[in-house]
Amino acid sequence: MTKYVYLFSEADQSMRNLLGGKGANLGQMTKLGMPVPQGFTVSTEACTKYYEDGKRINDNIKAQIEDALHATEKIVGKTFGDNENPFLVSVRSGARASMPGMMDTILNLGLNDEAVEGLAKQTNNPRFAYDSYRRFITMFADVVMEIPKSNFEAIFDAKKEEKGIEEDTELEAEDLKEIVEGFKAKFAELNGKPFPQDPKEQLILAVQAVFRSWDNPRANYYRKINNIPYEWGTAVNVQAMVFGNMGDDSGTGVAFTRNPSTGEKEFYGEYLFNAQGEDVVAGIRTPKPISELEKDNPSIYKQFIEISQKLEKHYKDMQDMEFTIEKGKLYMLQTRNGKRTAQAALKIAIDMVDEGLLTEKEALLKVDPKQLDSLLHPQFDPESLKAAKVIATGLNASPGAATGRAVFTAERAAEMAAQGEPVILVRQETSPEDIEGMAVAAGVLTSRGGMTSHAAVVARGMGTCCVAGAGKVKVNEEAKYFEVDGVKYQEGDFISLDGSTGKIYGEQVKTMDATVSGDFATLMEWADKNRALKVRTNADNPRDAKVAYDFGAEGIGLCRTEHMFFEADRIMAMREMIVSKTEEERAKALAKLLPMQREDFVGLYEAMQGYPVTIRYLDPPLHEFLPNEDEEIAELAKEMGLSFEELKGTVEGLEETNPMLGHRGVRLSITYPEIARMQTRAVIEAAIEVNKKGMKVEPEIMIPLVGEVKELKYIKDIVVEVADSIIKEAGVKLNYSVGTMIEIPRAALLADEIAKEAEFFSFGTNDLTQMTFGFSRDDAGKFLADYYDKKVFNNDPFQHVDEKGVGKLMKMAVEGGRETRKDMKMGICGEHGGDPDSVHFCHDINLSYVSCSPFRVPIARLAAAHANIKNPRK
Ligand code: ADP
Ligand code: MG
Ligand code: MG
Repeated sequence: MTKYVYLFSEADQSMRNLLGGKGANLGQMTKLGMPVPQGFTVSTEACTKYYEDGKRINDNIKAQIEDALHATEKIVGKTFGDNENPFLVSVRSGARASMPGMMDTILNLGLNDEAVEGLAKQTNNPRFAYDSYRRFITMFADVVMEIPKSNFEAIFDAKKEEKGIEEDTELEAEDLKEIVEGFKAKFAELNGKPFPQDPKEQLILAVQAVFRSWDNPRANYYRKINNIPYEWGTAVNVQAMVFGNMGDDSGTGVAFTRNPSTGEKEFYGEYLFNAQGEDVVAGIRTPKPISELEKDNPSIYKQFIEISQKLEKHYKDMQDMEFTIEKGKLYMLQTRNGKRTAQAALKIAIDMVDEGLLTEKEALLKVDPKQLDSLLHPQFDPESLKAAKVIATGLNASPGAATGRAVFTAERAAEMAAQGEPVILVRQETSPEDIEGMAVAAGVLTSRGGMTSHAAVVARGMGTCCVAGAGKVKVNEEAKYFEVDGVKYQEGDFISLDGSTGKIYGEQVKTMDATVSGDFATLMEWADKNRALKVRTNADNPRDAKVAYDFGAEGIGLCRTEHMFFEADRIMAMREMIVSKTEEERAKALAKLLPMQREDFVGLYEAMQGYPVTIRYLDPPLHEFLPNEDEEIAELAKEMGLSFEELKGTVEGLEETNPMLGHRGVRLSITYPEIARMQTRAVIEAAIEVNKKGMKVEPEIMIPLVGEVKELKYIKDIVVEVADSIIKEAGVKLNYSVGTMIEIPRAALLADEIAKEAEFFSFGTNDLTQMTFGFSRDDAGKFLADYYDKKVFNNDPFQHVDEKGVGKLMKMAVEGGRETRKDMKMGICGEHGGDPDSVHFCHDINLSYVSCSPFRVPIARLAAAHANIKNPRK
């Protein structure tokens, strides 16, 4: 019989997949002899089973839960459902990958009308008992019955107002008792049935609700952006409650072994006296810094420091811990590898190597390649910053520089971002419902909450700049403005945030490009030592090539020559070439293009300083280049000395029903070989020109959209003829090669044949994905959303290589190609080249290099190191 439930004392950190991160670590801390309130974990397999069984918990699992509950009662010395000495538990979600705040937790479960009296008597603290009960009702209603918290908050706030008090802690037992009565009435009204009094029923409903919360919209969204499979499921932890709300000798907090924002080695965190669970994170009361605990209770502080150091050594990583103090006794409620900013991640990794805690390889694995993204984004331009005026300062919750238009709701953020407007989401405080807005925002500003508030934690995880808890900023979300010192900032007004200093500017501040230096450079050096894959860039102009070179690119893997003609002064010549009806007309247009191309190639070769440069021949989906407007047609007609009607007719004749599968790539050069001639001339002449200046360029000519070896041979013969005659005429030596893209499934299937002509392969995984799935790249976005919603797909195959299908073709092509040409150079140049998961795959199938957009080069370098450390290449 499958075991679905494990006591903490049966668990350890190796059981993460089965028990989730929280459960496995509670087990591990128990094993390490730390003070952990005991309990048990219902496994992720039980979650999967719950969904398989049509969203119900079967009797077998219920029985195992009951057994574990009895075992826990023995350890704790209390009985669940006993009204004299009530045994209360928390019910906590916990998946394999940490998803902070995405799913739900219920505290104080087991309370009912009688038990609350018993608890009051037994602790001699009715205030505490009723405070616990009102919290339980709120959480239970919210999580299990999906009754919004706001219903209860309204009652709670009304009471505070009636009493004329500010702090929750000022409420007395009688007040809380009345509040509980109000809550219960509200619950019955909205639920149609009274609040459930049977603790066992409460427990099963709660476990079920946690399983259900795995499928709530915010969890689904979080998983999608973090590429976490839906199939994993969540575990549920049922744990004996300890109480931080028993008075001023009790409290609760969170702490990090190092500063998650800067990486500084300092004990870091916040806590609140006389409070429970969520109070710290929710930003309801402003917590105290953990350093004050040293004054408030030195012996607990010392014990906590010892535990946290032990945990950091044990996990060899910065820890993020939750703790509660009940009547002067410390309990550990959670530990996990802490989320951190990219800067902090680098500093911590490097410091831990210095401290002898990690090897370089281990340290590399501690930095998530995706996170580097935030370091590659622009910083404030110092000059522009000097001139800007600081209107307020908040906490430097997540670093980076952001400038954008103020918006006050997540929906508005998404709308404006979709229109290409940079936005800054301004809220009193954020909640999990806001994450979509946070994900698209350049920055997040809140007026309430601390360094561990939702806004701060989530923004750091996303690499989004965040300034939190800026008290001076009075936010009016409904009226869509905020006010500082009497000045109003409306929706749409530009503001800027410095997440590293916490400064807020009421204007647009110019930004500038990032550089790789300091800790970042050190880590990149280590990555380079440890990787087998080379990293190139996709660049169509010298400016991008230069950026990529500075980020460590070792060549250009893809230069899309058609992109060189998007610019206004060139598009005319390009259009002329496309609409030319005679060879003569086309020759004229091509003659205009030749010098431009040559000049571009010179620029690219120079930017790459002798590294290989792969030039892909023209591959324009025609519709992207044809003139659409009558005005444009008229202009072109004039330029070419044609009548408007004549040209319009030609343009219409060129229109295709399905341009993605149309007359492009190699097909175009087969019809018009003079295009390949012109491009060869430009490639070779440019190489000869720069080599004269002492460089050693060996151009790689790449023919797109080949599906049949004869297509390639036809063009290759022309390329070789033109190139060799130019080289001969110039009287120089120049090596060049001719290869192809593998982007049509047929080419992958026949790679061994194609390799007879192709000297290298480059996987064009955008087209390969499009054609393998039969999804139009231009249209798939519209319907793929339904695929994610309905769990048909976990994620976008255009972002992460579909290893199963597309990957199978790739493997086949690698093997086929190398059968014919043993050491054949092979790379990838689709968007996937910068996606860490896909880089892994490329390493595993033995590609020679990945090529990605310039800003992804450092990400790919680190991802390639990760891949080689985990799966070393012989
Ligand atoms: P999250 O994953 O959102 O952090 P948790 O399950 O960790 O949710 O719980 C939320 C809060 O409740 C935390 O502050 C935690 O410390 C507190 N909490 C959870 N279980 C207990 C317990 N058994 N006793 C006291 N506090 C608890
Ligand atoms: Mg937690
Ligand atoms: Mg393509």
